[in-house]
Amino acid sequence: ATPTALMVGTGRGAQLGILIKGPEVLETTRKVDTIVLDKTGTVTTGRMTLLAVHTADNTDKAEVLRLAGALEHSSEHPVARAVADGAASEVGTLPVPEDFANIAGLGVQGVVDGHAVLVGRERLLGEWAMELTPALKRAKEEAEAAGRTAIAVAWDGEARAVLEVADAVKETSPEAIRRLRALGLTPILLTGDNRAVAEAVAAEVGIETVYAEVMPEDKVDVVKSLQAEGRSVAMVGDGVNDAAALAQADLGLAMGTGTDAAIEAGDLTLVRGDLRAAADAIRLSRKTLGTIK
Ligand code: ADP
Ligand code: MG
Repeated sequence: ATPTALMVGTGRGAQLGILIKGPEVLETTRKVDTIVLDKTGTVTTGRMTLLAVHTADNTDKAEVLRLAGALEHSSEHPVARAVADGAASEVGTLPVPEDFANIAGLGVQGVVDGHAVLVGRERLLGEWAMELTPALKRAKEEAEAAGRTAIAVAWDGEARAVLEVADAVKETSPEAIRRLRALGLTPILLTGDNRAVAEAVAAEVGIETVYAEVMPEDKVDVVKSLQAEGRSVAMVGDGVNDAAALAQADLGLAMGTGTDAAIEAGDLTLVRGDLRAAADAIRLSRKTLGTIK
């Protein structure tokens, strides 16, 4: 394509809500055949809500919300926002935690009101040699079978509760997946969330291949393994956790509604956070470079 055509293509992209880092990006965009999609905040809205609290015997629900909410108030993860907001609306002002730490892909830990508190995946409890009670384990399995994310809460060495959170698929996601398929791309869902939730979301938007329970640092390996199969891979993501995979992909697409780290790492930004713009970007690149009319 001529420099003028590339400039026109880039300008048209801006009109469609696609920011392109440089003209050479259009060439890679044209070639991708596989598109890996992060779940939370990319395919789904990322605005989660707290739907239920299951407590262990002799555990006070308000206490669970106070301690878990206080910790999650310090995290920016969509799960954390759901827990902190849900807790604040039920119990009011939350205490300020000490020694707060975020454990990527697992949850948070810290000291609240003198208690050592953990909030996150069951696996996070496992790392501290704690396990869910049978009743809490059942609550977790039922929540996950219903397509919700189950979060464990523990303090002072004991599992105390399971929280259910969920977000919704973006209204535009099923159409976006259909359009990506029509352009010949294979969509793949990639998430740190549990398999049951991931499968439920995939079914809702029409994706067949799912990589679930992938730790943030392992997302990049999923991209590499697809590339090793000879695929030309696009990756779409919004989180700090997605940055390395976005950089590794042949084409990184960042949600404009996402974190600065993702936008930095991407080649393209979908300004409005609408996945349909990913299909627009591919169509535009093919049109600009003359492979379709
Ligand atoms: P995703 O790939 O869906 O964006 P992450 O890798 O960020 O997910 O997180 C994976 C899982 O770890 C979440 O689904 C959640 O169960 C758990 N998790 C991560 N951060 C937190 C947190 N702050 N509080 C509770 N759970 C968390
Ligand atoms: Mg995400």
